[in-house]
Amino acid sequence: MHTITYVNALKDNYIWIIQSRDCPEIVIVDPGESKPVLNYMQKHKLQLSAILLTHHHGDHTNGVNELVKTHHPKLFAFSNAENDIFLHTLNLKFAILKTPGHTMDAICFYDGSNLFCGDTLFAAGCGRLLEGTAEQMFNSLNRLCELPDHTNIYCGHEYTLANLKFALELEPENSHVKNRFNVVKALRAKQLPSLPSVLAIEKTTNPFLRCKDPAFAKIIAKRFACDANDPLQVFTAIRQFKDNWS
Ligand SMILES: [Zn+2]
Repeated sequence: MHTITYVNALKDNYIWIIQSRDCPEIVIVDPGESKPVLNYMQKHKLQLSAILLTHHHGDHTNGVNELVKTHHPKLFAFSNAENDIFLHTLNLKFAILKTPGHTMDAICFYDGSNLFCGDTLFAAGCGRLLEGTAEQMFNSLNRLCELPDHTNIYCGHEYTLANLKFALELEPENSHVKNRFNVVKALRAKQLPSLPSVLAIEKTTNPFLRCKDPAFAKIIAKRFACDANDPLQVFTAIRQFKDNWS
């Protein structure tokens, strides 16, 4: 039985920690810093079995060198992870999903119920297009949408409240978005994480996953003068708008 927890890093990054009740080893995702991980391991008497890296940005990787030097974990990164990953000590198996868009090397790790998606999919948002095209990101998100609705979504940052503000800017009357905004606002007021999300919730409240929804597409097409019948145009319009929005 695995549990997933986190340590906070930098301004708003999460370093996800996967552990098992029967095993003193952990697997971590995207250590943008080493210190919070080292503190957690020391406190709970744990060893570092493996590091998973979703993409090359420093706020997801800057802790790697120190952790490798001191604990010699296996490293499964955007640059070397091609096939499925098996971690026998923890009895974990991950499929690698290539999801270019935020960066060209972006990958997600999927274990059959949990998705570690770095800066590709956020709760109520998606990563900026720093290297890839809108079409690449749109295709990557569509691929993630094919996963089961109950998939837990572990993103790289706590951006949910700001993302929901943006979603309400697009659709002020959407009750799913309004309700989620209130839920997340209450969580954040108590400094609790809004994550993990669940894919089903993203499908109803994340504008970047709703570009095929006719009612949503119609609103966007009217506002940004694009074709409501072309989901990629709808996606491109809201991605561009958000780049300049906050
Ligand atoms: Zn990034």
